[in-house]
Amino acid sequence: MNRVYNFSAGPSMLPLPVLEKAQNEMTSYADSGMSVMELSHRSALFTDIITEAEQLLRDVMQIPANYKVLFMQGGASQQFAMVPMNLLGNSKKADFIHTGSWSKKAIKEAQKFGDTRVIASSEDKNFTYIPEVDRSMIDPEADYVHITTNNTIEGTAFSEIPDTGDVPLVADMSSNILSEQVDVSKFGLIYAGAQKNIGPAGLTVVIIREDLIGLAPETCPTMLDYKTFNDSGSLHNTPPTFSIYMAKLVFEWLKDLGGLKEMELMNREKAAILYNYLDASDMFASPVEKSSRSIMNIPFIIPNHDLDATFIKEAKAAGFETLKGHRSVGGMRASIYNAMPIQGVRDLVDFMKKFEADYL
Ligand SMILES: *Cc1c(COP(=O)(O)O)cnc(C)c1O
Repeated sequence: MNRVYNFSAGPSMLPLPVLEKAQNEMTSYADSGMSVMELSHRSALFTDIITEAEQLLRDVMQIPANYKVLFMQGGASQQFAMVPMNLLGNSKKADFIHTGSWSKKAIKEAQKFGDTRVIASSEDKNFTYIPEVDRSMIDPEADYVHITTNNTIEGTAFSEIPDTGDVPLVADMSSNILSEQVDVSKFGLIYAGAQKNIGPAGLTVVIIREDLIGLAPETCPTMLDYKTFNDSGSLHNTPPTFSIYMAKLVFEWLKDLGGLKEMELMNREKAAILYNYLDASDMFASPVEKSSRSIMNIPFIIPNHDLDATFIKEAKAAGFETLKGHRSVGGMRASIYNAMPIQGVRDLVDFMKKFEADYL
């Protein structure tokens, strides 16, 4: 069976060399006679895996020494609650930039723990752009400001990270972590579910500035306190061992191909191929403002929506998987994360050209 080009928003494609390496090591990892899934999380072999995974991520993202890397579970959705539970320690106020469905969920969850304020929103135009944010909008007393750096469903992304001054900036980076160079020191906390650019579902990566650990109240459940993960090296209980191993292989792959600098170039090239075609096409169009476009998730529409189902069906038959847009926005969406080869995007555009010629 040939592999398809999988444009799913998540879980999404993994690099083929990573899958093959995992396959080769599946039944006996490092001559242990066991699969990684069968190794004790306290064994020397697994200790090496989790230590190397952290070090590789630190190298690739150039994470400063005063930041901790935590390997957790519960997805980005659990972080929607953990962030306020841990960080609303002083004023119990948090400022949010509202840019789509995921920020909406983050706001809703934070409301359970403190006062949330939306300081900028793009809801007026269906989240098709990223609103301007300047420092004067931020409450200097707020415990944090929250942004969604890449809006997976709407296809927008921040091209500049807002300056929040002394107020810690918290970022949901689930769908664009590792896709481009980022200055980690601009953030207080970064979180990401693994299933887009990191590895299999089940792992959540948190990068947190040291001084933001240990702020949770006594009543905070042990497993929802960042301190628990920091104090135990993410080994308080059994972590998602196989997902951490897969993430390590992905980090290795990324480092070997030249790190984030190279990855960003490749991602920008891939995105440009698709956007250039969308902007030139007489059939397809991007609903997103040019300056706010994501290089990871690219929604597109056919004004005659009757053709959507035909397009998705014919694309699938031609080996282009999961191009249906999110149910909340309709149309189509191509998620072109790190693991999507440039050839996949070229082939998709060729297919779209042919579809346009056939149906316009
Ligand atoms: C996928 C996604 C989520 C949800 O992640 P889970 O790990 O399924 O909870 C949250 N935020 C963004 C930006 C996402 O892309």
